[in-house]
Amino acid sequence: MLEVHVLGTSSARPAHGRSVSGSVIDTPVGQILVDCGEGLQQRMKDHSARLKNCGMQQRLRHTRLRSVLLTHGHLDHCWGVLPLLQSMALDGRSKPLVIAAPISDIAFDTLIQGGAYAELNDVGIARVDLARQWQHWWSLGATFDQLGYEIAWYAVDHSTGERWMRLNPESGECELLAGPVDLVDGLKISSHETLHSVPSCAWSVRLADKPGRFDREKADQLGLGVEQVSSLADGQDVEYSGQSLKAADFRAPSKAGLSVLISGDTKAGVPSFEELGKSGSGPDLLIHEATYTDIKQDKADEWMHSSARDAAKAALAMGAKHLLLTHYSSSLEETSTSVSQAKELHSSCSAADDGDIIRLTYEGTSQLRWDGRGWSQIKDAFVQ
Ligand SMILES: [Zn+2]
Repeated sequence: MLEVHVLGTSSARPAHGRSVSGSVIDTPVGQILVDCGEGLQQRMKDHSARLKNCGMQQRLRHTRLRSVLLTHGHLDHCWGVLPLLQSMALDGRSKPLVIAAPISDIAFDTLIQGGAYAELNDVGIARVDLARQWQHWWSLGATFDQLGYEIAWYAVDHSTGERWMRLNPESGECELLAGPVDLVDGLKISSHETLHSVPSCAWSVRLADKPGRFDREKADQLGLGVEQVSSLADGQDVEYSGQSLKAADFRAPSKAGLSVLISGDTKAGVPSFEELGKSGSGPDLLIHEATYTDIKQDKADEWMHSSARDAAKAALAMGAKHLLLTHYSSSLEETSTSVSQAKELHSSCSAADDGDIIRLTYEGTSQLRWDGRGWSQIKDAFVQ
């Protein structure tokens, strides 16, 4: 199972009871935070207290966070990271953490040449470029010495292909990597370039493939012993009556692991989303920004954001099974128009609200909404 706890659905600033961006993806191997606007740690605490009070098993705790993935450097998406890191230190965290984010090609080249503290002020990069923010965070205490736990900092530059580096604020070294890295053991995490006014990407989090069902009847029919059956079930080939039995012949094909992709901020027509569609690797759930509705399509294009219709087009392009809208402009008090416009293109579409839990299982995807006393499933949120 994979669950997404949506902790902020507003764009730019809090409005209409919605907070700025941040979602926790709860996986069997740990929790992943995607974006972290102001006040996110309080929202995590409040949400987790609700879970506890309702007798639910899940908890959101920063001790369980394995990685923080940032989609871009606008402050409504990352202003909460530094205080979160400091709270982890105050709580005595010792486990390492991974932080990954997109930066500009100029910042990337400057860091590779000059190290983690290379001067970035006058080289023509955005003030909010995350390379610059990281340098500030380090100067304000986000280093191993001051936090007491290790952070692996990874930056990706999408503008010239996909280049990855690991930054080390302790030694000052920046290491150019051969390609994308496994950020978290047991998960497939990948970044996909999006189109915004600063370097930006979407993050995909996918569980490991699910092994196909073991065909015990077939093994039994051959008259195999218990040990031989259990070897085949464990994936080991077995010799039997002079012939070699391949374990793979006793198992149905594996199933792609459950996956969610969070867009961050982007305008429409993202080439990397089309590539996902062409390769047949679209996610089970796309959580896509839908800052505007049709009536402000011109603003969406001008400010490099999406309308709900653009989000639906993205879902179709990448072959996403389900679409969840988020990141609403403060001009939108409610979201029924957004959903109806998106549904004209993609029928399995719903609007996120702060505090929602999206549950993905191999049987289907559901949306749970907080009603003041507990979470209840929204009927027919998604087409199964
Ligand atoms: Zn935003």
